[in-house]
Amino acid sequence: MTAGNAPRNRKKGRANRHDGAITTDYENPSVVRAEDPAGRGTDRHSQADPGNEKERDYQANAHGSATSMDDLLIGAHMSIAGGIHRAITRGEALGCGVIQIFTKNASQWKSPVLTDQTVKKFTQERDGTGILVIAHDSYLINLASPDTFLRNRSIAAFVDEMERAEKLGIPYLVMHPGAHKDSGEEAGLKNIVRSFDAILKQTRGFRVRILVENTAGQGTALGHSFEQLKRIVEGTIHPERMGVCFDTCHAFAAGYDLRDRSGYERTMAELDTAVGMTRIEALHLNDSKKNLGLRVDRHEHIGRGMLGLECFRLIMNDVRFRGVPKVLETPKDLGGLDMDPVNLATLRNLVRPVHAEDRQARNVSGTLENPPT
Ligand SMILES: [Zn+2]
Repeated sequence: MTAGNAPRNRKKGRANRHDGAITTDYENPSVVRAEDPAGRGTDRHSQADPGNEKERDYQANAHGSATSMDDLLIGAHMSIAGGIHRAITRGEALGCGVIQIFTKNASQWKSPVLTDQTVKKFTQERDGTGILVIAHDSYLINLASPDTFLRNRSIAAFVDEMERAEKLGIPYLVMHPGAHKDSGEEAGLKNIVRSFDAILKQTRGFRVRILVENTAGQGTALGHSFEQLKRIVEGTIHPERMGVCFDTCHAFAAGYDLRDRSGYERTMAELDTAVGMTRIEALHLNDSKKNLGLRVDRHEHIGRGMLGLECFRLIMNDVRFRGVPKVLETPKDLGGLDMDPVNLATLRNLVRPVHAEDRQARNVSGTLENPPT
């Protein structure tokens, strides 16, 4: 197994990551083979009952058949230009364990039909690589809108996003909560919760989980505080079908410091108190062009922004996030240089070897109280 940028040979039939131990390849210290000590790991990527045969099929579809032991579950948002399956090819070329996609053009309402052939091509490609695919909703959707017409249009479009994800066997749909457009935070939050209630009713029995993403709070965007995330997720009729996607750039822009250990731990403690760490089911790893609390959403390459490398070192070594998919949404190039490989290598290189005493401590504690030092 290789570390660094080299694409890994990830074909069908590779071992399941859950065989019990945290081990480290000391020759390749960036490779941590991890049993998720919080007991979440890969199995979290579907919410299925494993005893049911249909559910087992779904699980195999949802995250491929070959999640490897050394998989850090890092990757990037990938373009679907040329067909949805092409995103997987692009992710495979970069050695991604996870990719994020839009299942349609994210800046248009219209939604082209997903043909059986498209679904089949996508499914085959994914299952051949073992890459976990998560979806992100369209930018146009605003479940907080005070305008009834726009809100209803957004609800219909989000249900469509759910149907597309379900059809593709995608286990997570990440979404931005929406903007209240000067109707006030209270009215906006109520509209989001009511919209979700309608969506959850219309998608009864769906397996795709909704992940509400924290925002930078730009303009009238809601979801910038952890308390707002809590109100949204816990306020709906089916909180068990919902989780949170934590974006580092957005949190920092919204005023949560993550630049050093004390800021990081304080922020994570607040997140834990508000929504609970087990609700964090995906991470967006982005540095920030803008400074703390400015509420301006501008993503920067890892380690080259106002957040800096330490934030990402802390996350990559935080056992609470082991087994949680980590996706870059950083700019694709810098002066003509393809930056996804650079940012992915930066993340891999931040992973520390796991020492024996850590291993023991984690196994004993169940880890939530003992982030690595
Ligand atoms: Zn994001």
